Amino acid sequence: MASPEMSPMRLVVVGAAGRMGRTLVRAVSENPGAILHAAIEREGSPAIGQDSGMLAGLPANGIPVTTDALEAFVGAQGVLDFTAPAATVAFSALAAQARLVHVVGTTGMSEADIGKLTLAARHAVVVRSGNFSLGVNMLAALVKRAAASLGPDWDIEIIEMHHRMKVDAPSGTALMFGEAAANGRGVSLSNAAVRARDGHTGARQEGTIGFQALRGGTVIGDHTVILAGNGERIELRHIAEDRGLFAQGAVKAALWGLNRKPGHYSMNDILGLES
Ligand code: NAD
Repeated sequence: MASPEMSPMRLVVVGAAGRMGRTLVRAVSENPGAILHAAIEREGSPAIGQDSGMLAGLPANGIPVTTDALEAFVGAQGVLDFTAPAATVAFSALAAQARLVHVVGTTGMSEADIGKLTLAARHAVVVRSGNFSLGVNMLAALVKRAAASLGPDWDIEIIEMHHRMKVDAPSGTALMFGEAAANGRGVSLSNAAVRARDGHTGARQEGTIGFQALRGGTVIGDHTVILAGNGERIELRHIAEDRGLFAQGAVKAALWGLNRKPGHYSMNDILGLES
């Protein structure tokens, strides 16, 4: 947290007209440790030229949405990025050049995309998380512990539900829970994951971690991790009630990253939870 005598951290919101982008503009305005430096959108977005405060449902802030990230990054100290994988990879190179703290909430990134972020993290602080809420990161620690304590005869299934506009599946948060469970068991998620079932699949294979993604309505994010044993089961559940909590977590992550040594960090580093 920035101390009161420090000047507020200058943050750029990229994807400023998106669901999370607008929420981030509000979260920055609510945090006395931060100030909005610029608001960026993709070429062709109808939001270009509009006041980013008004777009976020606030009074006008005099900062119009523009497309020029390079110019926006000059004089900034951090970037809040909840956009799309290709955009995030491009922003990471620019943010590293400018030595900005890059907070990445974008999900659906490939291994290759993440590799590029790790390269950028040699020169600047990158904080990336599939979920910036305290509750989800706490639940991931509990999932890891349960998976470590219970044997592989306890089947692990992860169910998530999100609004109808979400474009990737399973959610980044569901994959975080999968990673936590796999870590607890000392296996790799890519070997253990079963990401879809359809038709004559045969019996469940022991030790696998299953995913189911539901889409509909305006659900912000519901996740349930089920550990099903013989004759009993445990359900660990998280419900996000407001996008604001992700945005507040992202601003907190940016403030945490200021003046820290370059590296690829996660929300666990910020919350002091074991990774
Ligand atoms: P959205 O589609 O409403 O917003 C994305 C915005 O990014 C759009 O306005 C789009 O125009 C903009 N964009 C795309 N490419 C761009 C570019 N090259 N330059 C500038 N802007 C660009 O989506 P959303 O619901 O806000 O979610 C965005 C991302 O954040 C998704 O990957 C989602 O899964 C993720 N998300 C993460 C968390 C978390 O806590 N980590 C929470 C919620 C959402």
